[in-house]
Amino acid sequence: MSYCELCGKSAPERKRVIVDGTVFNVCMSCSRHGKPYEPAPVPKKKKVVAPATKKITLADDLVLDPEFPRIIREARMKRGLSHEQLGMQMSEKSNLLRRFETGALKPDELMAKKLERHLGIKLYVSAEGE
Ligand SMILES: [Zn+2]
Repeated sequence: MSYCELCGKSAPERKRVIVDGTVFNVCMSCSRHGKPYEPAPVPKKKKVVAPATKKITLADDLVLDPEFPRIIREARMKRGLSHEQLGMQMSEKSNLLRRFETGALKPDELMAKKLERHLGIKLYVSAEGE
């Protein structure tokens, strides 16, 4: 048996009405006091617009991979290039490349980008989550 949620009387037939913004299942006589309840159409979800603070990926977020000597060396060897050959391709001194590969010298950002381009490698890795 169902009861009216407003007057508490047993109500074989109940109606859903809105009283003060709340949905009640009420008897016929109480239903006159409220607005007929109509299920609201499901609001279309607005596309969540990404916050305007879009991160601009700068070198700030990236760090030189500490494995850079190995990465450079392996990429160069994969291509079958000597230090001299790669140096010529990059218009850099082969001696410089040697020093990168031994880790004696850290390529600066410009040089790292150049190496990345020429060798198809990634020397900068995201500093986040590391
Ligand atoms: Zn009632």
